[in-house]
Amino acid sequence: MKGKTVLVTGSTSGIGAALAEGFAAEGANIVLNGLGDAAEIEKGRAALAAEHGVPVIYHGADMSNPDEIEDLVRTAEGQFGAVDILVNNAGVQYTETIEAFPVERWDALIAINLSAPFHATRAALPGMKRRGWGRIVNIASNAGLGGSVRKSAYVAAKHGVVGLTKVTGLENARSGVTCNAICPGWVKTPLVEVQIEDRAKRDGTSIEQATYDLLIDQQPSGRFTTVEQLAGAALFLCSSAADNMTGTTLTLDGGWMAI
Ligand code: NAD
Repeated sequence: MKGKTVLVTGSTSGIGAALAEGFAAEGANIVLNGLGDAAEIEKGRAALAAEHGVPVIYHGADMSNPDEIEDLVRTAEGQFGAVDILVNNAGVQYTETIEAFPVERWDALIAINLSAPFHATRAALPGMKRRGWGRIVNIASNAGLGGSVRKSAYVAAKHGVVGLTKVTGLENARSGVTCNAICPGWVKTPLVEVQIEDRAKRDGTSIEQATYDLLIDQQPSGRFTTVEQLAGAALFLCSSAADNMTGTTLTLDGGWMAI
């Protein structure tokens, strides 16, 4: 990864932060993005750079805004000369039945979880093709492969990301650029902690019980997928072992999709 530049959207928290760390540990230049407290983000950026001895920059693009996404990619290219690896990871969740789903929540979720990967891919592809090498890793979800109640926008967006992955893979199959999606099952990040709290409230149970119920319902291994395992999967997709792998999904879900 030395000399390669990796842009990870939504890397101020959870899976994205761990992916950025995984690539930094392998020597890559890192471009961070995401929301959060400015001082905390700067602390994280400086710590990542110091720990791994790699250049790390941060860009605060709002991933629901196409112009800011374009600026994010151009800034990364301006700073490092290239975006070699794009990880489309930023995402949000909102749970409600279809009839009660607030329209503005639908629009925002689709913009961040589905349209942003399109805009970032659109901006990064020309440079990758010019250089004859690129990797696009979309963080989809099991929700990109199957449905679940109260998650219409999320499931629709993640199915869309899996579709976008296929088309990106096909359109660039002979260019040296690959595009694949990772589909994690449950991963214990802030995005899921909120869902565990909601479940505990709904069922009148403890957080421990709600965590157990959440896993036992859908993830046969009974264990969360870890962010380190996902970083390993992303590194694999960017390695030469995956040179002839494109337009497909890699599922890390403790057996969920085998049910
Ligand atoms: P998280 O809440 O910990 O992190 C989400 C990241 O996205 C944060 O850095 C946040 O700042 C950023 N983000 C959100 N809205 C943004 C916006 N408008 N502009 C820029 N950045 C924005 O969640 P996570 O669990 O790490 O989720 C990361 C990805 O993994 C998401 O796409 C999510 O759908 C997917 N995923 C998560 C799980 C899970 O169980 N946690 C499972 C499958 C897929």
